[in-house]
Parts: sequence; structure tokens; C-alpha cells
Amino acid sequence: MIRTTLAAGVRHAPSLPQSSISFGGSVARHSSSSSSSSSVFSVLKSLVSLNSSISYSPCSVKNSTSSPMIVSEVASPSTAPETAKAKPHIINGCFVNPWPSAGEGNVKFTELLWSRFTREWRKVDVSPKMMPTVTPDFSAPISDPSNIRATWLGHATYYVEMPTGLRVLFDPLLGNKCVPRWAPGFNRISPPPCKISDIPAVDLVVISHYHYDHLDEYSIDLIRKHFPEAHYFVPLGIKGWFTKKGIHDVTELDWWEERDISVNGVTSTISCLPSQHGGNRSISDHGMSLWSSWSITSKGKVYFAGDTGYRHVPKLPADQDDYAIEMPHCPAFEEIGEHRGPFDLALIPIGAYSPRWIMSKAHCNPLDSVNLFQDVMAKRALAMHFGTWILTDEPVLEPVEKLREALRRKGLPETGLFDAIQIGQAVEVPVETVN
Ligand SMILES: [Zn+2]
Repeated sequence: MIRTTLAAGVRHAPSLPQSSISFGGSVARHSSSSSSSSSVFSVLKSLVSLNSSISYSPCSVKNSTSSPMIVSEVASPSTAPETAKAKPHIINGCFVNPWPSAGEGNVKFTELLWSRFTREWRKVDVSPKMMPTVTPDFSAPISDPSNIRATWLGHATYYVEMPTGLRVLFDPLLGNKCVPRWAPGFNRISPPPCKISDIPAVDLVVISHYHYDHLDEYSIDLIRKHFPEAHYFVPLGIKGWFTKKGIHDVTELDWWEERDISVNGVTSTISCLPSQHGGNRSISDHGMSLWSSWSITSKGKVYFAGDTGYRHVPKLPADQDDYAIEMPHCPAFEEIGEHRGPFDLALIPIGAYSPRWIMSKAHCNPLDSVNLFQDVMAKRALAMHFGTWILTDEPVLEPVEKLREALRRKGLPETGLFDAIQIGQAVEVPVETVN
């Protein structure tokens, strides 16, 4: 058993008005400075020299003995698709995307770099404060204690309060950079809405993968300082990064593995689930750590998609709709819906998709995101992975417009179902699932 303290237990529940903010406004395009491009070179050069220390250690859940949170060795019932049992995502000890929907290989830095210098990179608006940002009021009461409350803290960082009182921080990144701190460039365009120390309590920290914009050392150091009892869940190959830092309350899981977490007689379940992405922290450690999505069941069900693609598409003329051509989509999300769904709330990435032919193997565009939302059988969704850093070519707020377009195209309501909210905003979602 792994034991750690659960800080929450009882929900203090002051409430924020439930809301789904829609973004109006046009998408601005300006010239950025050439320093953006040169900083890309510097970062790439730096990353080449990184010597990754991660290693792959399957099923290496270890025990520690410090507190009242009990993490089971196995959870029950635990179901998985037949196709997953042969572990097609592990080949010769390396992790791969096992589906045709991922295309060949990983996103290539060289292709990305070429697109930077030849296409829209210089047109992306990099002016500050592009995203509406509010300061979260964590002490505000929750209107109904049986609701789930999710607060978006920018990029893929969500703070989720479950009806049991369990408080989960997904992919925390509240620092200024999404690259190594010593590397130039890649500064936030929208300020963090709060500090780690402003968050009232953290029981679980859940990490989707090893990329710098999802596993941030600066934020983890602060979490360790302010929430030393927090327990960490990570995909295979990442635990070593934590133990090197002296953090031992870490459970490392493979796709479709899950654990029960018992606190004061209340049991929650966390599942590590597939996604279509990559897990390198330098250009020399591809396949050494796994990427994943996650589900949490705790008197309500939340799905966190992490960082994922849905359907790799080839290079097409700019005005051609890539959904007009037949390409396979990732089957994992329908399997997740079947084996873990339905979900009361899904947190789904909508940004960092352009150039599409390069990024589609690893990132969703908003139409992919809406399809993923339907595949996992979520009742509500909130957007993430946009508006915080300039990572790719699309204008900062374009994902919000494209999300509405995608919902319209699918015949779904444009608000109240799958919303893009403000950074710092909290949304309450009623629980309808039985778990
Ligand atoms: Zn990533």
C-alpha cells in the first residue's frame, strides 16, 4: 500500500456562479519579432544537448509508509479492451502510438522549424494578455456539494474538486516558461491566474506526459513545498524524475491500469488511459516514457485527455477541409468511452494544431476535440491547451472560434456543452453518472 495524507476530506464549499464564457472578438494577426525564430533555434540546440535521465520501469509501483491515503496495488473491477492486453504500445522496450491514426514516427522538429520560417509563425499575435484571465476564488462556495468544480489555470492545468472532497491538480504549470528555465523564449503570453500557494489543498497531482509544458519542475518544486502530502500519478517512465528529486509518493501506471485510493472510508479510482502523443524531453529520448490520459471516479467521473492527437492527416492545400478525406482516427477514445465512460466532465485540448499536417499526429484541432468528446461519452467538456503559450502557428484565439465552428458542424449547441472558459475561471458540473 502507498500511503499519503489526503488534505481535503470534507468539501468547504463556497460557490462560484456556474458559467460558460464565450469568447467574442476577432483573431488578430501581427508580425512577431524575429527573436522568436532565433529563440527556437537556441532552444532546439539546447534540447539536443540534454542528457535525459529517465528510464522505463514497467509496473514499478513501490510502497512508502507515511500517511492515511491508501493506494491499492490493483483496482477492481478493471476492464480493458482485448486489443490492449498484448500491449501493442510497447515495442522493444520503447513506447509507440500503436494506431494508423498516428501516422509515421513523431512530430519532427525539422519540419516544425521549417514551418516557422516559411509560413505563419511571424503572423501570430504574441502581444501580452491575449486571453481573458481572472483570479480564481478558491474560497467561493460550491452551489451544490454533489457537483464537480473545475478551475482552468491556463494551458493544460486544471484544478478539479470532486464531490468526495478529493482535489486533483492536472499537469500543473504556473511558471512563466514551458521550456527548460535556462532556455530562451517561450514565455507565457497570458499571466498565471494565481500562485501554487494560493491553491487551498492538493491531494493528487496527475501528470499526462514528460513534455515541458505538462511536467514543470518549477511548479512541482512549489507543490512539494506547499503540499508535501500530495500523491503523484504518472505514466510509465516518469517516476524516476520524481524520485531523483526526493519525491517518493509517486504511482507509475501503464495504459488501462488503475488504482483505488481510499481515504477515511471513501474510495476513489484513478485510471491511466491511452492518448496519441509522445513523451520526450529532448530529441534523444523518444519512446522512453509513456504519455497518457486519465480518468478519476470519485462520486462523479472526470476524464483528462492530457495532450493528444486524434487523426493524422497529410499535407493538403490550405483551403481544403481535411475531414473531406478518409483518414483513420484513434480508436482508443471509443474504447475509453466503452470501458470507463460515460463521464460527467472531460477536459480536452483544442489548440497547438497548425501546421495541421505536422501537428495532427500529436495534437487535436477543435473538430478532432469534439469527436474525441463524443467518443469518450462525456456529458460536458471544458477546453484547454491554448491561449497560454505560442507553441504553433495558429493565432492565439483561433481554437476558440474553431471550437464553436466544430460544434455547429456536428449539430451541437455552441455553449453549455463543450466550452472554452477564461483562464482562472471555475465551472461547476452536475454529476449524472452512477459510480
Ligand atoms: Zn506534449
